[in-house]
Amino acid sequence: MPPPDPLPGTAYGFLSTYKPVLPPRAPEVFVEAGHSSRADAGGQLSNPPRPNTPRVLGIAIPSPLRRLFDYRPCREAPPGGWQPGLRVRVPFGRRQLVGVVVECRDGSELPLADLKPVDTCLDGTPLPADWLWLCRFTARYYQHALGDTLHQAMPVLLRQGRPLEARTRERWQPTPAGLETDPPGLARAPRQAELLAMLRQHPHGLGTQAILAQSFTREQLRALADKGLIGRREEPLTAPWKAGEPLLAEPPLPLNSEQATALAALHERLDAYHPCLLEGVTGSGKTEVYLQLIEAVVGRGRQALVLVPEIGLTPQTLARFRSRFRVPVVALHSGLTDNERLDAWEAAASGRAPIVIGTRSAIFTPLARPGAIIVDEEHDGSFKQQDGLRYHARDLAVARAHHHGIPVVLGSATPSLESLARAHSGDWRHLRLTRRASRHAPARLELVDLRGRRRQGGLIPPVIEAIRETLTAGHQVLVFINRRGFAPTLACHACGWLAECDHCDARMTLHRQPPLLACHHCDRRRALPDVCPSCGSGDLRPLGSGTERTEETLAALFPEVPVYRIDRDSTRRRDAFERVLTEVRRGEPCLLVGTQMLAKGHHLPHVTLVVVVNADAGLYASDFRALEQSAQLLVQVAGRAGRAAHPGRVLVQTLHGDDPHLRRLAEQGYAALADQLLEERRAAGLPPFRFLALLRLESPREEAVNALGGQAADALRSWLGERGLAVDCLGPVPAPMERRQNRYHLQLMLASSRRSMLHEAGAGLVAWLEATPEARRVRWSLDIDPQTLA
Ligand code: ADP
Ligand code: ZN
Ligand code: ZN
Repeated sequence: MPPPDPLPGTAYGFLSTYKPVLPPRAPEVFVEAGHSSRADAGGQLSNPPRPNTPRVLGIAIPSPLRRLFDYRPCREAPPGGWQPGLRVRVPFGRRQLVGVVVECRDGSELPLADLKPVDTCLDGTPLPADWLWLCRFTARYYQHALGDTLHQAMPVLLRQGRPLEARTRERWQPTPAGLETDPPGLARAPRQAELLAMLRQHPHGLGTQAILAQSFTREQLRALADKGLIGRREEPLTAPWKAGEPLLAEPPLPLNSEQATALAALHERLDAYHPCLLEGVTGSGKTEVYLQLIEAVVGRGRQALVLVPEIGLTPQTLARFRSRFRVPVVALHSGLTDNERLDAWEAAASGRAPIVIGTRSAIFTPLARPGAIIVDEEHDGSFKQQDGLRYHARDLAVARAHHHGIPVVLGSATPSLESLARAHSGDWRHLRLTRRASRHAPARLELVDLRGRRRQGGLIPPVIEAIRETLTAGHQVLVFINRRGFAPTLACHACGWLAECDHCDARMTLHRQPPLLACHHCDRRRALPDVCPSCGSGDLRPLGSGTERTEETLAALFPEVPVYRIDRDSTRRRDAFERVLTEVRRGEPCLLVGTQMLAKGHHLPHVTLVVVVNADAGLYASDFRALEQSAQLLVQVAGRAGRAAHPGRVLVQTLHGDDPHLRRLAEQGYAALADQLLEERRAAGLPPFRFLALLRLESPREEAVNALGGQAADALRSWLGERGLAVDCLGPVPAPMERRQNRYHLQLMLASSRRSMLHEAGAGLVAWLEATPEARRVRWSLDIDPQTLA
């Protein structure tokens, strides 16, 4: 079967094609250092567009189709003329959709008379140009439909057509007449006089709510206004910060010499693209460096965007930023209402919010005056979106900083191998903080051999003894076990039966609270069997330990101290986690049992012993990133120990105490292990030395995925040969878990040491899939720079 010509530029069907054209010079991950452009930095198009009246608008519609759709402009042109970035409402089939104008042209592949007109233009001015640039870049880089990318990257209310406007609130303040001594007309109105007196204390005015909260009434406000003594104005919810006003609410900490060196390096180049890896152990004061960098950036009238991992955007993190700065700190997280999200977006886009902090999707926040981007815990997996638009917010942060010509700081105690390779090669500046601000060195990992030892709730006697000693000394203990539930599965001791999911190639996890078997891959649940479904024996026993079982064991061993379990099951209620943390910060001796929810970000000053129940699960997973990721997690868990006044200990239970990687990590630390892993990746031709793209195929019908996988691989291989592209096509092979939710998963891997060739091949493959009828019956996705092969 000859593949249809998959070269970008071929038109499929009758409508104009969105062409997945490669960027002329790829961004960071894709660009050489040094060069920077300031185009679009003002949030405006670099060439102010002339009001124009194109005959055709190429519009991106929220749809998986990788092309634009052509429409005629509606009769009423927007005030500034038609331009890219304007939202329009358009008829699409029998529906009405909100799309975004991407191209203004005079021609179409269709006769102009056949084009439908746009219904209405929803914007007076286009959505911010820096945002549009980033969306176009993202769509191109990740080979994703532009319409869907734009849709994903805007707040829900904008998707629905709401105008991008600041919501305002009323503020009241005295008029010049009201400021005179003894203003007239108040002799018999003592409450009005009191209200006026209060307002005179607030030269910038007071909001209506604040006034009513002082038990004044709207009538009193109106009466004063009618007398001409006070005036009303509308102000955006996020009050603008005026340059020259004091910036800080509390003084910065005096920096230690390493911090000072790092900050000086950042100060050197505030006006250019300047990618920096800030590698510093937990507690070494990276956040303090960010805060002082932000101070410099905002002091110059620019904005700072801070990205943190999902789990890191805690009330404490926010409080730390908000207590330092007097200026508004806008936070974008999952707890916002749609209105609040739009407000935050607007405040950032208009420049009123000098500091924006958020999780992964906050990378798409427009900024009127971008000044720096900071990515904290840059190695964290939550920066990569794992479905739909599979972008990596860290990589986009670097691309965006390059585009704006501003610094980007990637901070981590355990940098990703990708970032380390960039820093080692000199493309990025490598800044290091090796000392903790408090007097204790980070705790070392002590390997504890599990072989031949009796375990209780997963713990062996010497470890239980160490826990006892710590509690007796009045300290807290964190027990880390990356498996929720009671036990990884249920087994029959008579016949060897194991509880398996009918829908996945996976075991079901045994839960006790409430008692059931649950598949953690498809969420299928089953009642606990009384007898073995296979042989009828009653000898069913839990196999291995999860958080519930360890919690139960510890509660029995240490009845005198509270045991808090932290995992997704125990913290379904939003405030449950925060309540436990508040309790734990009081410092009474206690035991914390938890999954990685506990490992990241949280400051637990009274924990002096950390126990890792089983280091092996992650180390021996098949994924090529497994070692890197489990080392990062181990170091991060270890970082919880001994942050305050007491030194910490970290006991790591393992069946493979002589594993060379684990030993290197324990004896020489993360950086030494990372060096070794980089060498291994180089030898194996894996990222960051080669680039990958993963095609995933899935269907309930095994034959359908297999057939399409084979066809796609053949078509791609012959096409790569014809074009002489140095791209390897590996597979198709079944996914590590072939059957999941009763669907079959197959993969095809593309690998190349030339990023541009990989992209060309990816674009070709996508075009082939879009034009191949069999591919419509199989769900497929292309993952550029996949973080996991699962
Ligand atoms: P990191 O972000 O690297 O984990 P933080 O910035 O949170 O480190 O610093 C850890 C602790 O050390 C915090 O309590 C912080 O207030 C304190 N700290 C950081 N820098 C200094 C400094 N220069 N002098 C004194 N204390 C500091
Ligand atoms: Zn049995
Ligand atoms: Zn399942």
